[in-house]
Amino acid sequence: MGRYAEELESLRAEGLYRDLRIIRGAQGSRVELEGKEVLLLCSNNYLGLADHPLLKRAAAEGASLGAGSGASRLVSGTMELHEILEARIAAFKRSETALLFNSGYAANTGIVSALVGRGDAIFSDRLNHASIVDGALLSRASFYRYPHCDMAALERLLEERGGKGRRLIVTDGVFSMDGDIAPLRKLVELARRYDALLMVDDAHGCGVLGETGRGSAELLGVMDGVDIQMGTLGKAFGSFGAYAAVSREIREYLVNKSRSFIFSTSLPPAVLAASLAAIELVDSPEGARLRSRLRENVSLFKQRIAAAGFDTMGSETQIIPIRVGPAEATMEFTRRLLEQGIFVQGIRPPTVPQGSCRLRCTIMATHETAELEEAAEAIGKVGRELGVTE
Ligand SMILES: *Cc1c(COP(=O)(O)O)cnc(C)c1O
Repeated sequence: MGRYAEELESLRAEGLYRDLRIIRGAQGSRVELEGKEVLLLCSNNYLGLADHPLLKRAAAEGASLGAGSGASRLVSGTMELHEILEARIAAFKRSETALLFNSGYAANTGIVSALVGRGDAIFSDRLNHASIVDGALLSRASFYRYPHCDMAALERLLEERGGKGRRLIVTDGVFSMDGDIAPLRKLVELARRYDALLMVDDAHGCGVLGETGRGSAELLGVMDGVDIQMGTLGKAFGSFGAYAAVSREIREYLVNKSRSFIFSTSLPPAVLAASLAAIELVDSPEGARLRSRLRENVSLFKQRIAAAGFDTMGSETQIIPIRVGPAEATMEFTRRLLEQGIFVQGIRPPTVPQGSCRLRCTIMATHETAELEEAAEAIGKVGRELGVTE
């Protein structure tokens, strides 16, 4: 046996083994999975932009400038399109400036580890995304995790810990596995009172939440109060990459200090052009129409799932978890739904806490009403078969 086979075996035994499922063809609301057409109920392509004709055309035109950018941003990899897209993102987020990163993962590790270091302190929601945790570990700052959305606990930590160094409060805007929204107003107030920077990872809010899709900060009326608004272009925007919408000073600092920004080849022109088209679309009447369709779909599906007796774990958004509990039962749930042509991934530790395995359903604007009704019915039936509901 190789060095890793034993550990892989024990992952299998615990029901925690993971493998890859291959989709053939485009990323639509229905996809071909392992030779079978299924309803896709676990994609973050919330507005259906990933295979939108406008984005595909923009990407093709972008590719006329070449397939790659050839270098990192600080060497010779900053093309006009990077600057144009950053200006467009800053206008969209109403921030002074914006800075692109190659992915949300790279953004979080690069931003957190640059803005704080030894002697500084990070205050982080316990359910924040793994990339924030990794950034915190890289930073070598003291790392305090507060119970999920518990503002009294955060305030106690801010009072008692942190010392004289810089302080960073960081939170997901929409929690990726629970679908609830961070209490941003209170977070802005605490950040001001305790002289901390506030960073919001809006991977699942940007493009979707708020009147004009500017994200969780727009929804909660605090766009001016968030120092670092991070978002990804790979989810609702249907493209790839990520950004930090920040002040001029913070951008300049990140350009000089953020290692994931500095030591990596920049985004290629096809991706930049697609992202630009995505933001135009999200910021247009068509974007508003898609968001309104998404809201209707979310409300219908959530209502059906709750009526079937499932626990949706406080979801307030298009991310609708269905609590199952044990890992094995969760994966069996996924298998049985696949047999009925519905694809929902089961989510297990370490992505979620032990014992809280769930189906993470995600709704798209391009799902049809009848599809969601049928899916909710199938989920209800399997839930009863497996004893998840009565
Ligand atoms: C997906 C996700 C990321 C990572 O973004 P990518 O662009 O996919 O690398 C970061 N934070 C949260 C909360 C996410 O859900």
